Amino acid sequence: MNIVRLHPGKERSLLRRHPWVFAGSVARGGADSGDTVRVEADDGRFLAWAAYSPRSQIRLRAWSFDPDQRIDAAFIAARVDAAIDRRRALGLDLGACRLVHGESDGLPGCIVDRYADVVVLQSGSAGIDRWKPHIVAALRAALPEVRVYERSDAALREREGLRPATGWIPPDGGDTAVEIVENGLRLGVDVATGHKTGFYLDQRDARARFADVVRSQGLRRVLNCFCYTGGFSLAALAGGATEVVSVDSSGTALDLAAMNVARNGFDPARTRFVDADVNATLRDLRARGERFDAIVLDPPKFAASAQQVERAARAYKDINRLAFHLLRPGGWLFTFSCSGGVGGELFQKIVAGAALDAQCDAQIVARTGAGADHPLTLHFPEGEYLKGLLLRKD
Ligand code: SAH
Repeated sequence: MNIVRLHPGKERSLLRRHPWVFAGSVARGGADSGDTVRVEADDGRFLAWAAYSPRSQIRLRAWSFDPDQRIDAAFIAARVDAAIDRRRALGLDLGACRLVHGESDGLPGCIVDRYADVVVLQSGSAGIDRWKPHIVAALRAALPEVRVYERSDAALREREGLRPATGWIPPDGGDTAVEIVENGLRLGVDVATGHKTGFYLDQRDARARFADVVRSQGLRRVLNCFCYTGGFSLAALAGGATEVVSVDSSGTALDLAAMNVARNGFDPARTRFVDADVNATLRDLRARGERFDAIVLDPPKFAASAQQVERAARAYKDINRLAFHLLRPGGWLFTFSCSGGVGGELFQKIVAGAALDAQCDAQIVARTGAGADHPLTLHFPEGEYLKGLLLRKD
């Protein structure tokens, strides 16, 4: 058995059931990549069973805090089953759903998203790489009808010292393009070429909310920035918007967005797609004196690490300020940040600064986050990365 001993005082986070131990906390001991180790405090007390990541700053990821727990295939299968059961218990539609959300489901580094009959596995840690065949077997046992595709190509794998791995898990194969239904709307998802595992499932509830606001407020002219495959654009059209301008710098994403409009039978004359940088487009629209009833700002992660927070804050402020200018009084702004390093409080401050610069105020009608298929647990607050403010300009 491999034992890892921590420096004095470094047992505290594990005692709080936080699953991570950083490299600097380890006094001695080690193992091969992904192997299970017994983690002990400086005085030899048992703390946790954990997966060892020799090249990662997050050196240990805890599997269990129970000294009698065996970390084996049955344990891994039970965690996968529990994650799926959790979503079933909440009554979530498993046809377009995150089935496993890493640490929050007790499988640190493991993401599993389901799109129709395809389940996409994304491993981001040595421990998940090590147990991958067992995770796949558990997924197949729980959901016999699915095909399993691997998208372990996130940039963070490099920091973990892990090589990318993508493709169908044998014996599966076939078309990587599938159709999902979200909030009653049909969306094409390509699990091989789409962002992340193919789609941004985490915004499902926000998109539903947006459709409701557009409908109930009778909003007509909508600007959807960072539209990707048009999730919020479809929501606006479903809500009755008469003119939806969608902006993204990815031509491929825009093509898919236009196809999604057609897929749902919406009149393409109600839509306009702009293949351009959002910041430049916002400035351009402002220069032309355009006005919108609602604007969505759902940018990519501006801060990938704590060091980038300041620069990210400026970028968030800039686009939000421009959006406030483009909104008519009484208009709605749905603004998001998915940067883990930018907390909810800071994000609100940034948006407040943007409104100040635009010389307006706004009411916070609602705050949103990822849906219930992206669980947030008390012991792992880092799981909260997505924040949204639904604002009505005064
Ligand atoms: N709102 C989308 C998800 C947005 S993901 C949804 O509901 O599915 C972020 C998107 O921003 C990506 O599609 C990416 O291509 C785009 N993007 C990134 N930087 C950009 C920029 N500077 N200008 C325009 N689009 C950008």
